[in-house]
Amino acid sequence: EKKERLDKVLSMCGFGTRKDVKKIIKEGEVSVNGEVIKDAGFHVSPQTDRICVLGDPIIFKRNLYVMLYKPAGVVSSTCDKKDETVVDLLEGEYSHRNLFPVGRLDKDAEGLILLTDDGILAHKLLSPKNKVFKEYYVEVEGYLSGDDVQAFSKGIQLEDFKTLPAELIIVQSDEISRAVVKICEGKFHQIKRMFEALGKRVVYLKRTAIGSLRLDDSLSPGEWRELTQEELETLK
Ligand code: URA
Repeated sequence: EKKERLDKVLSMCGFGTRKDVKKIIKEGEVSVNGEVIKDAGFHVSPQTDRICVLGDPIIFKRNLYVMLYKPAGVVSSTCDKKDETVVDLLEGEYSHRNLFPVGRLDKDAEGLILLTDDGILAHKLLSPKNKVFKEYYVEVEGYLSGDDVQAFSKGIQLEDFKTLPAELIIVQSDEISRAVVKICEGKFHQIKRMFEALGKRVVYLKRTAIGSLRLDDSLSPGEWRELTQEELETLK
């Protein structure tokens, strides 16, 4: 098992910022295997060393981050009476850790789902205020034109609300057109409704990115993997 700095481990376990935990370490409140450690850079094995704060053992539980290629037909909630869910596709430790999807995809849509137990990151990625763009590849019935691009860039009036400005990049305009759409909101059926407002029907929808996180090309529908350290750091 990889050893980590004591201050990093305590910080990951919710004992505050690096600065906060350095202070409690310095004050002699932390012990490792029964011995008080005052060096924040002391290396520990989070799973096997007995680390105590004020005499109480800490439970080391790092957050998990999984990217999943959701296939069509699977629902993106955590439990469902009838349908298979994205969480059902996970295995081992990952299926017992209460991971939840960051934003939803329709049952008939496919593509990138980020599953995590990190509520802070989830909120950061979902809040429209933060303008984290989600990218989709779409196929729609009907031709696309510069007017549609304009409409997306201004935001589109739907029945109950007006969307924020979005980006439409036409890949090919034809009887069935292909395009890339970027939106920073995630209202119910948002992209389908945006096209519907322009008289076009979405026939295929695949999410390809959430902010900097791109769906790994080597994953097939139904497959998943943990994020790399680099993907996670860029996303945060
Ligand atoms: N927009 C939709 O219409 N459906 C999705 O699943 C995601 C975005």
